Amino acid sequence: MLRARMTGSPPSAVVTGASRGIGRAVALRFARAGYLVWALARSAADLESLHGEEPERVRPLVVDGADEQALRAACKTILQEGVPSVLVNNAGIAVSATLAKTAMEDFDRTMAVNLRAPFVLCQELVPGMEARRSGRVINISSTAGLRGFRYTAAYSASKHALVGLTRSLALELATTGVTVNAVCPGWVDTDMVARAAERINQTTGRSVEQARQVLERMHPIGRFVRPEEVAEVCFFLASEGAGAITGATYVIDGGELA
Ligand code: NAD
Repeated sequence: MLRARMTGSPPSAVVTGASRGIGRAVALRFARAGYLVWALARSAADLESLHGEEPERVRPLVVDGADEQALRAACKTILQEGVPSVLVNNAGIAVSATLAKTAMEDFDRTMAVNLRAPFVLCQELVPGMEARRSGRVINISSTAGLRGFRYTAAYSASKHALVGLTRSLALELATTGVTVNAVCPGWVDTDMVARAAERINQTTGRSVEQARQVLERMHPIGRFVRPEEVAEVCFFLASEGAGAITGATYVIDGGELA
């Protein structure tokens, strides 16, 4: 485990989009391993339920990732209690539409949540990690950050950009003790898959169950990735032993890109 250097206090992790899906699994993985977890999300009710599972270790912070000032204010609150050891930029939204039908407000919101928020959080939290000469930034991108998919141009562009941010920041910080990596899942069984299956149902007439099977079969392993499997890779990347891994993209896609 990455210790909070010099303070003797337990290490802390900041996880965005922690209210459900992958973010919730990541928050619980770190909390159960002894981290103090700053759980950021918009839904107070969902955060309360997460807090209920690990009351001693989870600190909920209600914040909209599209709101830069709110993000910076949340970071001030976090930094008052010390520099976090780990930042997991997980919150993300996906809009599925053709080029012509993608509303510019959806494009802007996708970029704000998927790219601008991680950039702002890095600006606020990385300097303290650099000063302490120890830290981990983990950006949840996607296989859509490494290759194209039809009808997801805005999402895919935001996730490619997040990989670009990861690689460039990794080089900038290479000698500081702070690593920056991206995790690129394929289809993970969360609300995001549920929404994709509903959309396939609406546009093709396939049942939701058939649509889920279509998505599942895109993975050679024949099943969706589990949120806990993404959390496990994040936990590994946060470990002391992963100190030489930076600027990497960890693909978790059941063999899809093989
Ligand atoms: P999800 O929809 O279940 O959860 C998304 C999380 O992001 C939620 O906690 C939500 O509250 C949060 N979020 C969304 N907009 C926000 C905003 N404006 N401010 C703050 N939080 C906001 O989806 P998930 O599958 O758990 O996705 C988590 C991450 O994993 C996303 O970045 C997503 O792009 C990525 N991802 C998911 C899949 C998949 O198949 N599920 C695949 C590849 C990558």
